Amino acid sequence: MVRAINKITTRVKYCTKCVNSNLRPRLTFDNKGVCDACQYAFKKHNSINWKEREKLLKELCDKYRSKDGSHDVLVPTSGGKDSCFVAHRLKYDFKMNPLCVSWAPAIYTEIGWQNLKKFSNFFDTIIYIPNREVHSKLTRIAFEEFGDPFQPWHYGQQSYPLQIAMKHNIKFIMYGENQDAEYGGGKKKQLKAEETLAERYENQRYRVKKGVDTLLEIGIRKKILNKNLKKNKYLDDYRLPKISEVKNSKIKTYFFSYFTKWIPQHNYYYAQKHLNFKTGLSRSQGTFTSYTSLDDKLDELYYFMQYIKFGFGRATSEASIDVRDGFISRKEAVNLVKLYDGEFPDQDLNEVLDYMNIGKKEFFKIVDKFRSKKLWSKTGKKWKLKHIVY
Ligand SMILES: [Zn+2]
Repeated sequence: MVRAINKITTRVKYCTKCVNSNLRPRLTFDNKGVCDACQYAFKKHNSINWKEREKLLKELCDKYRSKDGSHDVLVPTSGGKDSCFVAHRLKYDFKMNPLCVSWAPAIYTEIGWQNLKKFSNFFDTIIYIPNREVHSKLTRIAFEEFGDPFQPWHYGQQSYPLQIAMKHNIKFIMYGENQDAEYGGGKKKQLKAEETLAERYENQRYRVKKGVDTLLEIGIRKKILNKNLKKNKYLDDYRLPKISEVKNSKIKTYFFSYFTKWIPQHNYYYAQKHLNFKTGLSRSQGTFTSYTSLDDKLDELYYFMQYIKFGFGRATSEASIDVRDGFISRKEAVNLVKLYDGEFPDQDLNEVLDYMNIGKKEFFKIVDKFRSKKLWSKTGKKWKLKHIVY
């Protein structure tokens, strides 16, 4: 992430269709100034034959469907609207028998926990909560060193479902959206149904080269973590299995968004209708929605740090999605970004800081450490972004 900051451009360019900008890592534009997420969205809404795609999904399910009642597809879940949609459709429309795997967030929100419990009324669900003593320290190290409190969660969420698939001999893993297609920034992978193993390993390394082992080394050096953690397999839950082992297991990982039109707002209505999914009582801080990323009290800090480091926040991402799906105009999106992007995440901040064992003074120092001078200017005590969406 630090490397990415150094690459930040000084000339901010906005997509002519949505409010994405060239601050988003890897995003590309065509000669009309349209970002690759909008180019994909055009295909999604106009040219992809979704009936054909559903047929392909049925064929895939026919290939993997078990005949003896064992689990035949693994669905990673947080209990959120998207995994509700995926698991429910696979079970009830495609007659699969999903095993759902949930790698716990750092700090459950009340609504996130309630939704996950409701989810488990319908689906066999493994909920794994790695102990908080170590996880909170990994979170602190990731926040202090990389400005990214989600890192340890991300490692587990990428690795653990794969490990469970291997243990349970499930050959078919179904993730929700192809993020490169839906959010932009990876044109090569946008039209792919499958995530290869190499891509998964690359995705893990994209954050920090050695994944959780980088956090571990720093933690031991700073005497936050016990050096014995290095000797045993204790943190293996956070590590991807050896690539040779996975290759032998013949597991395949697909994106549900390749097979059915992926519209987050529709997923929410679907989850509400079929699983009684509930939203937050009010909108999430930093954005205008109340139904996305609801399960972790760290969510708001994560998106706030994205705003600090890259100069765009959660409202930018979510407003762009809603523009692409035709729910709001670009002008409305600009206003939403101006209203909510980068809103300070004070609602759960005390609890989050307690969790990471970081004082408030220290917290603000860490935040400021990650502000790129190319993006931010300071007048008196006030920081201001140099660019503004228009
Ligand atoms: Zn765009």
